[in-house]
Amino acid sequence: MTAFQAPLNDLNFALRHIADLPGLAELPGLEAAEPVAVAQVLSEAGRFAAGVLAPLNESGDKVGARLENGVVICPPGFAQAYAQFRDGGWNAVPFEPEFGGTGLPWLVGVACAELWNAANMGFALCPLLTQGAVEAISAHGTPEQKATYLPNLVSGTWTGTMNLTEPQAGSDVGALRTRAEPGDGGGWRIKGQKIFITHGEHDLAENIVHLVLARTAGSPSGTKGISLFIVPKFLPDGGGRPGRRNDLRCVSIEHKLGIHASPTCVMSYGDDGGATGFMLGAENGGMRAMFTMMNTARLAVAVQGVAIAERAYQRAAHYARERRQGRAPGWREAGYSPIERHGDVRRMLMTMKALTEAARAVCLMNARALDVARHHPQAEERAQGLALADLLTPIAKGWATDIGCEVASLGVQVHGGMGFIEETGAAQYYRDARILPIYEGTNGIQAMDLLTRKLPMQGGEVVNRQIAEMRDLVPKLEPWPASAATLAAALQSLATASRELLARLASEPNAAFGGCTPYLKMWGLTFGGYLLAKGALAARELIAKGAGEAGYLNDRVAVARFFCEQLLPQAAALLPAALGDGELLFAVAPERLTG
Ligand SMILES: Cc1cc2nc3c(=O)[nH]c(=O)nc-3n(C[C@H](O)[C@H](O)[C@H](O)COP(=O)(O)OP(=O)(O)OC[C@H]3O[C@@H](n4cnc5c(N)ncnc54)[C@H](O)[C@@H]3O)c2cc1C
Repeated sequence: MTAFQAPLNDLNFALRHIADLPGLAELPGLEAAEPVAVAQVLSEAGRFAAGVLAPLNESGDKVGARLENGVVICPPGFAQAYAQFRDGGWNAVPFEPEFGGTGLPWLVGVACAELWNAANMGFALCPLLTQGAVEAISAHGTPEQKATYLPNLVSGTWTGTMNLTEPQAGSDVGALRTRAEPGDGGGWRIKGQKIFITHGEHDLAENIVHLVLARTAGSPSGTKGISLFIVPKFLPDGGGRPGRRNDLRCVSIEHKLGIHASPTCVMSYGDDGGATGFMLGAENGGMRAMFTMMNTARLAVAVQGVAIAERAYQRAAHYARERRQGRAPGWREAGYSPIERHGDVRRMLMTMKALTEAARAVCLMNARALDVARHHPQAEERAQGLALADLLTPIAKGWATDIGCEVASLGVQVHGGMGFIEETGAAQYYRDARILPIYEGTNGIQAMDLLTRKLPMQGGEVVNRQIAEMRDLVPKLEPWPASAATLAAALQSLATASRELLARLASEPNAAFGGCTPYLKMWGLTFGGYLLAKGALAARELIAKGAGEAGYLNDRVAVARFFCEQLLPQAAALLPAALGDGELLFAVAPERLTG
């Protein structure tokens, strides 16, 4: 087994030279993001991730979470690691100082989250959900709700959950049936069952704050009639401490393909008359409240894709150095050559590396757009930042999580038969990665979101602006004409697909819906290629100035060129699928598909 190494050089390079961390640190309120200070934070985070979280990853997978007499017990070592995580202040990294956050930008929070998830995804899911609860209460809570819950959630003393899913209500959240009736003292009584609730019950923290979607009496059907409630496991007493046990329990936990350390719970609310809940935001405003945090929650899952890809790459690269098979052309030493010497293995490793770096860059740019939307002093810049974040969110979630799976699968392949055997660890990454395209809105739903909500923003202008910005880079890539040509071709195809799909949305919606997944992939590849190319230009400039380590910087150029010249051509090749004949998708009747 190889130890996890925090990819600090890659993270710092991407933060500074692709996501312009120095520029972000000049915005009011983000002074803490000065790059040298951020590098120190990341270095400490990397030490914690590698030293405390990573050693629990394999045992967490093997032992898993268990339910005993209504109590969920996380794998050995997790409670202690969580206490260290909380006491080290890591939970508070991405939050505003008002309730105990560090005031660092989302960009830095995302970089830290990559490290937690790469080290131990089952562990990192818990703070990921807490982050969602903090966002929702910050945006929609009353002053009392904020004062009661935020200090404890920001510090990580309490954790949070998101309760949307019910057996009949998955992608279609509007089908949910959990009910809320008026209770005593302005509270509500919640009754219903939720499934698949991540860290719905555990032994890591003294209280769990469930955010539960439910319907009040007489509410409209569908998503317009959903309200959001804070339903704590222990009702806070007057002093903000956990008090009386609420009427909710974990009925069972799921047996899953991966993320065994993260309990996925069936939660029952109100078996003894009704769980006490407090409405968060307006009645029937639950979906609005959910949408507020959707950008950050979906980005957080996208980052999990990058993280698992990074971990899979590290393991595969290490194995390829050790494993010897055959004699590669040019191998002059005695005996067999390491498999990393074979061209096809090198292709797998380069593909893993390039996809991981591109997906990381996409996620960091998404985070940056969120920071600009929150902190830029000019309203117009804030609005543009928000529009860009809105556009990038489904792209980051859909593309980076698919890459998590693709890279983890390549990681298994690099190991050959040993990849299929659990002891190398490559298999765990593959299993863990597979949830990422499913939860927090399946990738199919992301592609629909891109097509139906994001592409039409401002009549297509948000998309056009981003394509125009990417086009500006093409002439600057003259040192690498082949990269410039593939980026230009990808942009041309993306512009055509965007224009045509926007028109088809009104005239042939089913054809447009059938093309949205290839369209999302075109976006991911093109934006990822553009960002790596931007990084390559920065690396070239640094080399010319004699700044930085030339070997490392030359690698950035090689990775970017590999991506542009050998992976990016897929973007243009996806155009026929994005704009294909929609009728073809329905040509074979489902009952005949099996015949
Ligand atoms: C390990 C795990 C953890 C989870 N954690 C949480 C959690 O903490 N909180 C929570 O509330 N939920 C959680 N979920 C639930 C998760 O978000 C849902 O499973 C997911 O949203 C998909 O819903 P579904 O399973 O009902 O699939 P379905 O909605 O039945 O989808 C099945 C397939 O049909 C496609 N599909 C469905 N509707 C459409 C449509 N309109 N257009 C095109 N395609 C469509 C989907 O893309 C998918 O491919 C978790 C799930 C798992 C497995």
